[in-house]
Amino acid sequence: MGTESIRRDVVEAATYWMTDPCQELTDLRPVEELFGEDCFDLPKMKERLAPEIYEALIQTVERGKPMTDKAVADEIAKAMRQWATERGATHYTHWFHPLTGTTAEKHDSLYKLDPMKGYVAHLSASALIQGEPDASSFPSGGLRQTFEARGYTAWDPTSPAFLIRGVNTATLCIPTAFVSWTGEALDKKTPLLRSMDAISEQSMRVLEFFGNSNGVHNVYSTMGCEQEYFLVDARFLAERPDLLLCDRTLFGAKPAKGQELSDHYFGAIPGRVLAFMADAERELWRVGVPVQTRHNEVAPGQYEFAPLFENANVAGDHQMVLMETLKRVAKRHGLHAILHEKPFKGINGSGKHTNWSLSTSLGQNLLNPSDDPHANQQFMLFVSAVVRAVHLHADLLRSTIASVGNDHRLGAHEAPPAIISIFLGDMLTDLLEQIEKGSPTRSLRGGTLDLGSNMLPQLPRDSGDRNRTSPFAFTGNKFEFRAVGSTMTATWPLTVMNTIVAESIDYIITEVESKAGKGASAEKKQEAVNAVLREVVKDHKAVVFNGDGYSQDWQEEAARRGLPNIKSSADAIPVLKAPKNIELFQKYKVLTQPEVESRATIFMEKYSTSLAIESETMLQIARQMILPAAFAHQKDLAETAAATEGSGVDCPGIREELESYASLVEQFRNSIGELASRVDKIPEDAFEAGSYLRDQIRPGMADLRELGDRLETVTPVDRWPMPSYRDMLFIK
Ligand code: ADP
Ligand code: MG
Repeated sequence: MGTESIRRDVVEAATYWMTDPCQELTDLRPVEELFGEDCFDLPKMKERLAPEIYEALIQTVERGKPMTDKAVADEIAKAMRQWATERGATHYTHWFHPLTGTTAEKHDSLYKLDPMKGYVAHLSASALIQGEPDASSFPSGGLRQTFEARGYTAWDPTSPAFLIRGVNTATLCIPTAFVSWTGEALDKKTPLLRSMDAISEQSMRVLEFFGNSNGVHNVYSTMGCEQEYFLVDARFLAERPDLLLCDRTLFGAKPAKGQELSDHYFGAIPGRVLAFMADAERELWRVGVPVQTRHNEVAPGQYEFAPLFENANVAGDHQMVLMETLKRVAKRHGLHAILHEKPFKGINGSGKHTNWSLSTSLGQNLLNPSDDPHANQQFMLFVSAVVRAVHLHADLLRSTIASVGNDHRLGAHEAPPAIISIFLGDMLTDLLEQIEKGSPTRSLRGGTLDLGSNMLPQLPRDSGDRNRTSPFAFTGNKFEFRAVGSTMTATWPLTVMNTIVAESIDYIITEVESKAGKGASAEKKQEAVNAVLREVVKDHKAVVFNGDGYSQDWQEEAARRGLPNIKSSADAIPVLKAPKNIELFQKYKVLTQPEVESRATIFMEKYSTSLAIESETMLQIARQMILPAAFAHQKDLAETAAATEGSGVDCPGIREELESYASLVEQFRNSIGELASRVDKIPEDAFEAGSYLRDQIRPGMADLRELGDRLETVTPVDRWPMPSYRDMLFIK
């Protein structure tokens, strides 16, 4: 595409809102009517199923009992199919999360030809329960040889089926797990479910010990994600091969204005963006995703959506639906949604704060301190378990958030550093100190905030104060893992959280039980808990840090405390298969050794392949777009100089301009050659490639970019072959 058409697109994008047809929302029904209408949830099942069938389903959904009765599944399949076809569905798909990081679906018709009855809708129990997609092209990291390429999808009755709508089509999506023919997990849902079992089992022991398990069937983890993303006018996508292929820009000079004025964060949402948000919300509500918050984020062009937290398994499915919905609905508004962790250099990238807690089946949040926190031993036991888990497994947690994209964010003074520490706030830190000294006697009450005007109400002060620089923060009644990247499947870090915390709960409650002895009095129990927690706090408080995570001091202090600081994902990913981690996953039946090893391989392959694609894309842009534009401008300068001199005017300025421009172009050309020769030598083996990519490719890309961006600032706007940062970030 020529530069002329790029400038025309910029103008068109700027006037889009005035001409676009989809300004008006068509569906303005009240949300309570709309919410969940495209989701086959429990209330709908109850309406459509015989009581005994529904009860069997509840045993599975709420009590975790496996569904073994085929007759039950048959009835559910029938009801689900009827509901779906009534709403216009023609196809169904087993929907799953392969290790690619996205979702997968293969549509089958809900209809079949019956010689007597004609074309009739049909979904059998076996079609509901099990599918066999041609799975040979999904990554298995060596788990599956091609001769045994079969993979199975298995229905997850605990996550409601839903409809995906497109133009004139609706498809019934059945959430499933994806496993190999030998039962090894090839997806992200299976280990999550296993880890939820592990943490439930250990947490129940704690509740039983404290006599709080009455009526509680199980404990499940809850998850609430805050999804950050960028929006740019969709027209720019076609003109930015880097955005198109890599979801981020590989060149782009800093505009005169970035986020310095802090005028975007929580600012008024631009009209076109608000229309997109409202549209996306309605789609999400319809399938039962409880989106709650929407706002502008820090960087220009950056926004956030946060759904209400749910059972982590359902929330995990909803997270994937949310990401897909953002992408899909944005197009309808002539926008392009970018989920990448670092789409634009020089301004903030995007994260996915992943909030995590534990809830009993009765809905009690186990990380919610009671009014009198110091008396709340059970709460402190859970908090101490988290502290211990994060301290022991900081490197493993770091590995769960490793990716090419997140490397740009972590430690870049916009997101937490690569050092994993915990922020607890004053109240909890004070309590831990008291535990360490003996039994806790006082609590720092939240107090009230006087707002200095009688017209304004007094606010109770949150005892869990805020800290934006910690990767892992206690925020009053939950932990917030803030280092998770915006494109990531949040259930993977959550799976690891569940597993490491299950291990720490197991350790603590085992110690406590043996110290207290059988049939111990309440007092004896309290003493045992205090004694064990005192040791735990002593051994693991090094991971607690309430200060400024962005400061250089913290880097040094963390090193003194022995906390790992794994800066590159190339080093973080292999940590996953360290013997201590394999042992941990095996012990809690979350992943087998081959499953862990295959995951490490897949993540490493994804890391190196993504970088290879980025560097190739960069070379193509440099050679096919920037260099020709630069030569053209160089020629203009040369001709101008020659013509000016030819007309007898002395023009040292133009000559200087030409010389310095030509020299920059020459450097740029050399840098292309340098990166190209490094790309040629990327090792085949992903693990071997890691350090090479870190030490050779990334710096090579940074050098080329630096020169390219300098060229942009001295090349005429109408010669530059791509829309600029100014165009993309500020035209809304
Ligand atoms: P902030 O930006 O201040 O962190 P938000 O309100 O944007 O706060 O997001 C908080 C997120 O935490 C929401 O997604 C919310 O549903 C989630 N959350 C709240 N309570 C829990 C909980 N018990 N377990 C998991 N997530 C929770
Ligand atoms: Mg948050």
